[in-house]
This record gives sequence, C-alpha cells and structure tokens, in this order.
Amino acid sequence: MKKTLMIVALAIAALAGSAFAGAGDKVLVCHEGSLISVGLSALHAHIAHGDTPYICE
Ligand SMILES: [Zn+2]
Repeated sequence: MKKTLMIVALAIAALAGSAFAGAGDKVLVCHEGSLISVGLSALHAHIAHGDTPYICE
C-alpha cells in the first residue's frame, strides 16, 4: 500500500513538474523496465499497470 501512495505522489509531482517546466505534455515513465516519454493523458494508464513516473527501480 505504501508503494501505491508513493506512486501517486510521484504522479502528482510529474504532473506538477511538467506544468512548471513547460515541457509540453510529455513525462517520463518506467514502462516494462525502460524509461519512455508519454503524454500526460497516457500517464494514468501506465501507472495503472504498474509503471512508475521518472524512475526505474
Ligand atoms: Zn507502461
């Protein structure tokens, strides 16, 4: 459960960070072990299948 909370916090940070950076609507997400750039509209879908924003563990 704690990991889920961390992921949600990271997602919020990713959204906020992207907004402040003005870097368009792309954020990095760890998808199947690789960092990829995805649109904010796709971010929640990646998190839903277990990806983590910005970091690959
Ligand atoms: Zn994914």
